[in-house]
Amino acid sequence: KQRLEGKRALVTAAAQGIGRAAALAMADEGAQVFASDVNADALATLDHPRIETLVLDALSAGSIADGVAKAQPDILFNCAGFVHNGSVLEATEEDWDFAFDLNTKAMFRTIRAALPGMLERGGGAIVNMSSLASSLKGVPNRCVYGASKAAVIGLTKSVAADYVTQGIRCNAVCPGTVESPSLHERLRATGDYEAAMQAFVARQPMGRLAQPQEIAALVVYLASDDAAFVTGQAYAIDGGWSI
Ligand code: NAD
Repeated sequence: KQRLEGKRALVTAAAQGIGRAAALAMADEGAQVFASDVNADALATLDHPRIETLVLDALSAGSIADGVAKAQPDILFNCAGFVHNGSVLEATEEDWDFAFDLNTKAMFRTIRAALPGMLERGGGAIVNMSSLASSLKGVPNRCVYGASKAAVIGLTKSVAADYVTQGIRCNAVCPGTVESPSLHERLRATGDYEAAMQAFVARQPMGRLAQPQEIAALVVYLASDDAAFVTGQAYAIDGGWSI
């Protein structure tokens, strides 16, 4: 039996990177997947018989309400996020507000929209994208990013605690560096792609970056009934960075 057979899953930021890999992995495990993103063109390249795409802006409660009404998810994977590069002195109020809006508050919105239906149907699994750069580790030049991803862990534990007796599980995944389209953009933005790539690889004791599929495998596990006894946890998946 496929691990997600009979489940409906809503994924944000599913057009590329980890969200895309997770949408495909969940569909391969038998779920009916609603892959959402703001980027309609990139979404259109997703081709799987069990994937339906929908344009959803994680910054908009209205857009999320529409997406949730359509998807009626048993599984919610909150993956949308943006990396601000810089220390506390290099971040503006706008940087802070945008990071918290997309990286943290978007999950508050999607959970508020999806949870009532999950409770009505008797259960649900929520997986939130955090990062090793969070309360798990201080990372140079990840001030507002790390703060927003630490808040994701707080949100995760709060939801887990409030609904633990009602069939709802809520966990966070905390990756080290993952090879995704936006990572390549960040490396190019440093002005020395090769040096930046080497530095990112060097901080992973395994000597390589993660592939999005490796993170997707953890997301599938946490979304599945294999993880029925797992809630409120922040899972590091980081090639040994946090050893
Ligand atoms: P990515 O950054 O390459 O892609 C992000 C996707 O988010 C894009 O498809 C984009 O269109 C979408 N998006 C942007 N704004 C949106 C909005 N308002 N609503 C809906 N979608 C929106 O993908 P990635 O690097 O795999 O990152 C995905 C998540 O994983 C992020 O939350 C990121 O912080 C987290 N993460 C990434 C890494 C890494 O090294 N790549 C490490 C740890 C955590």
